[in-house]
Amino acid sequence: MNLKEEPVSNFEDRLQGRYITLEHIHPILEEYKTVFNIQILGTSEKGKDIPLLTIGSGRFKILIWSQMHGNETTTTKALFDFMKFITTKSDFQQCILEFCTIKIIPILNPDGAAAYTRENANGADLNRDAIQQTQIESRILRRIFEDFHPQLCLNMHDQRTIYGVKHTRMPATVSFLAPSADEEKKITKSRKEAMSCIVAMQKELEKHIPGQIGRYDDSFNTNCVGDYFQTKGVATILFEAGHYPKDYQREKTRNYIFISLMALFKKLCEEKSTNADYNDYFLIPENIPNRRDIHIKNAILDNIKFSVSIFIQYEETFENKKIQFIPKISAIGDNPSCIGHLEIDAKQKKVYLKNRKSLVVGQIVQKLYIGTNTKDNMLNLGFD
Ligand SMILES: [Zn+2]
Repeated sequence: MNLKEEPVSNFEDRLQGRYITLEHIHPILEEYKTVFNIQILGTSEKGKDIPLLTIGSGRFKILIWSQMHGNETTTTKALFDFMKFITTKSDFQQCILEFCTIKIIPILNPDGAAAYTRENANGADLNRDAIQQTQIESRILRRIFEDFHPQLCLNMHDQRTIYGVKHTRMPATVSFLAPSADEEKKITKSRKEAMSCIVAMQKELEKHIPGQIGRYDDSFNTNCVGDYFQTKGVATILFEAGHYPKDYQREKTRNYIFISLMALFKKLCEEKSTNADYNDYFLIPENIPNRRDIHIKNAILDNIKFSVSIFIQYEETFENKKIQFIPKISAIGDNPSCIGHLEIDAKQKKVYLKNRKSLVVGQIVQKLYIGTNTKDNMLNLGFD
């Protein structure tokens, strides 16, 4: 099977960009009513529906949820690509439908999705509410977990652009975690199962984005849903869709999440289990926050005698249902461990803003100049 070719024909083009809400997925769900079993699990804190799709009728039960954090939409797009793939017929799809029963909550936090926030309508982080269960959305997820008795859970998220792969100069385009089930991080049966699935996905991804797959920190936090589900003996995998160079809309990363899902289901269909070698999990390099959006090195600033590095991060703002990426100076000074997704060498020239204003931390820098004040030397860092 050539996994690389799959996404082209299965791309759900009605979902694009970073802002994905119930309104966006509603027409697609309407269309799938005759294909999949679709029900409403309950309503959010603000009364929005939380839909659930059931795909297949096999004995291996998988529970998947995305947008538990409302503004983390890449995996939602990939799940709809997966659904589109399932509706086209082939032996592979047939095997998935016969071996698995897959329950998908595409948007667990529809209020956060509408407001483009990580938290829900009450400002609660649902991935820190596994024990206390203070929020409706947390209770809805717990209920389906307890009623359905899945053998495998996929907890799907986005990570910020700051993550890279340890000991390399690569961004962490996709990261995984088999969460711990206790403080000692013991390798329990369900962790082994999650790890073996992650190894299968990582091996496939290595063919597409070599070196760009990271392993998340496994410190135990029982308030996180994945950790809690692992304590109940259910294999749970954390997916973190990350940055691919220049892909701020995360359309490329969406593809790599889709490819991960293909590799996971291929393993399940071929082996009919989650048991296999898990040791390679520990060979996946760790994720570290060593990336910044832009790094300008060897810059001369008015107020500093020697050349320095300038680090710029895009800050996401949300207004009138539109997301903007605002470039802001996050640090000035050398930090040898930090790498820019965009690296610019100022070659010991002066770097300044319009009207020769100098740069300070926290400042918005849509445009800046390197060297002389001419159009050729102007850097435009803004984009939509
Ligand atoms: Zn998240």
